[in-house]
Amino acid sequence: MSIHLASVTRSFGAHKALNKVSLSIEDGMFFVVVGPSGCGKSTLLRAIAGLEPIDRGDISLDGQPVAGDGLHVPPEQRQVGVVFQSYALWPHMNVGANVAFPLETAGAKRSAVSERVAECLETVALSEFRQRRPAELSGGQRQRVALARCLAQGAGTVLMDEPLANLDPHLRSAMEEELAVFHAASGATTLFITHDQREAMALADKVAVMWDGEILQVADPDTLYRRPLSKRVAGFIGRSTLVPVTVLREEAGAAEISFAGVTLEVACPEQTAPGPATLLLRPEHLVLATGPHGFAATVQKTIYRGGYWEVFVTLEGLQDPLLMILNRKASPGDTLRLEIIRGWVLPE
Ligand code: ADP
Ligand code: MG
Repeated sequence: MSIHLASVTRSFGAHKALNKVSLSIEDGMFFVVVGPSGCGKSTLLRAIAGLEPIDRGDISLDGQPVAGDGLHVPPEQRQVGVVFQSYALWPHMNVGANVAFPLETAGAKRSAVSERVAECLETVALSEFRQRRPAELSGGQRQRVALARCLAQGAGTVLMDEPLANLDPHLRSAMEEELAVFHAASGATTLFITHDQREAMALADKVAVMWDGEILQVADPDTLYRRPLSKRVAGFIGRSTLVPVTVLREEAGAAEISFAGVTLEVACPEQTAPGPATLLLRPEHLVLATGPHGFAATVQKTIYRGGYWEVFVTLEGLQDPLLMILNRKASPGDTLRLEIIRGWVLPE
């Protein structure tokens, strides 16, 4: 099922939780919406599921309008499954009965229900837990029951609102892998919501970065990381330092820039105009210089991360410290020579 939103707005009093949100999610895609708490992610998911009315704009599922212009198709007619952060399983029913519940309420035949439940439990690797109660399962297993129940409904589309937020870090990465497998097995269009950019990058075919009710950028994870289109996106996705530079000239997406008295070549959007600009430097853009060239830098702070050190260095004439990764120890006050091997000029 494809999902299409055109200029969807939803206000609570004077606050626009969704501000002209437009999105197109292709059939079968794993699409992640990432943004800080309170930016409108849950409101977006609820609007798509039909749990929240919209004030303006249109929503269609597989080309069929479901919301907008006085129309509001109720959730049960939208054929989308929703998995929330709290698993919302029936505590008095065993796993099999929990998964069977939506099928039974829809009036499916007993034998068909039993077969479908077995299939869905197999997809989430819980076949042998069919008789257990939710209380006898781990958090990750309960989350998988919720996924199986979602699958059982035959939903071609699954909406997930921070489903891993309650899990401990170890379980989270295991569940991330399982979600990828689940997605491949079910083929369901998946809209996954998270405030965790790391999770978004790990799971998504495409990511939308949301901020204060608006979508700032939609791209695949690597493009988002390498070519963010704004300071906000650059700051939210991955780690970086932003430094003021001057663009001297641009040709075919490469810019010659002047920075701390040195001329460098870095990537930039096509048609970047000469003049003052902002350069995005990721930790991997900075390396120790092998010769006498490069920049003199002073170590401000180091953090050991297991096998490598995060090192904050300052360059003369530059206010903000730059973050780089070293695989040897450095101490505050040390001087280094470093080279800038890549970079990305943000569009103005
Ligand atoms: P997120 O899921 O990104 O944390 P939400 O979509 O839950 O954000 O909320 C977005 C904004 O809308 C927040 O400022 C929140 O307080 C507000 N909001 C959400 N639901 C309601 C509601 N039912 N009534 C009033 N304000 C709401
Ligand atoms: Mg939320």
